[in-house]
Amino acid sequence: MIIEKYSMGVGDRFGMEGKAQISALRKALAAGFEICPVWNKSFREHSIIGTKPEDTRKTADSAVSASGWKKAYHVDADHIGLKNVELFIASSDFFTLDVADFTGKKADDAVIESFVRNHADSFKNLTIPGIDESFSIGKEELSKIASKYLLAVTEAAKIYKKIESVKGKGNFITEVSMDETDLPQTPLELLVILAAVSEQKIPAQTIAPKFSGRFNKGVDYVGDCSAFEREFDRDICVVKYAVSKFGLPSSLKLSVHSGSDKFSLYPIINRAIRKHNAGLHLKTAGTTWLEEVIGLAESGGKGLQIAKTIYTKALDKFDELCAPYATVIDISRSRLPSASEVSGWSADKFANTLRHNQKCPDFNPDFRQLIHVGYKVAVMMGDEFTRALIDSRATIEKNVEENVFERHLKPIFMA
Ligand SMILES: [Zn+2]
Repeated sequence: MIIEKYSMGVGDRFGMEGKAQISALRKALAAGFEICPVWNKSFREHSIIGTKPEDTRKTADSAVSASGWKKAYHVDADHIGLKNVELFIASSDFFTLDVADFTGKKADDAVIESFVRNHADSFKNLTIPGIDESFSIGKEELSKIASKYLLAVTEAAKIYKKIESVKGKGNFITEVSMDETDLPQTPLELLVILAAVSEQKIPAQTIAPKFSGRFNKGVDYVGDCSAFEREFDRDICVVKYAVSKFGLPSSLKLSVHSGSDKFSLYPIINRAIRKHNAGLHLKTAGTTWLEEVIGLAESGGKGLQIAKTIYTKALDKFDELCAPYATVIDISRSRLPSASEVSGWSADKFANTLRHNQKCPDFNPDFRQLIHVGYKVAVMMGDEFTRALIDSRATIEKNVEENVFERHLKPIFMA
């Protein structure tokens, strides 16, 4: 199974917005851009919501058949590890092996020594097409980088083999992810990681490094855009080089996690993938939940009431909701409006505060991030919330489709 050149995470917390998302992808397809939808839901999300991996498969299959999508689509076991991969094997065909927790921890000395012995020559007097500078990594430096990442790659190999033993070789797509960690990986480190991925015989088709800067959930990039531009360009060159040098799958491409709403990076990403004719996987899904809350608010009446309740309850549970997302959010409590202030808001004021339009004076990224991690509150509201989602279909679907098409597909893939 080979991943399409362009792919993008879809799906949503409650499994109701697939049709609206596909309708955005169909618009792109009609304009000549095929972007493959990949339904993704992590173990973390499933456990907070109380859904199972097979539910994601059902949601994807039914959205695809209801909307007549004839192109490929996949179901991603997102951010899984050895301890929970089993739950996802039957229903997924894309596996994101999350080994970030194993980075920075040292593998056995013998493993490191053997890697350095086998690869020392590959990293001497290194010129990578597309990168002006040349590099030379001595044994000592190679061993230092290997010490940081080999344990993670051997862990990825264990997860990969477990999946392969059930699904069979070539029947699924493998991603290796190291993004949910504190320290970014440099392009050279990425190259060493890919050498190790190849040595461990993991046929990775997407790789998710941690880029420098902050990739917070649901809000724009925080960091130096020109540094990102240089790093991203080099990462693409490294991936291409690794494919030919280490015999990795030719479909191997970068995967950008927490990919939604990185508006200041999209023009950079778009230029880079066009310049190098490179593929891209943009992993996201979470912000559709925010479009649901916006749609609820815009429908007024009961919907607006529920949107306000979600915020108020999220404010009460601030610490509990933020804890699982500590590395991917930055919320300043002092910039959050009080519950009583929000209770007096109009539908427009609520929607404008939440919607990711940086030009709008009402937009509040702290408010947005808190609601982003606050979906557990909606889960606890049970039927009341689900009914509201159904009652506000029109305003919700309009927001979901517009967000995917106008703010994501257009600037990233179609510009
Ligand atoms: Zn991630």
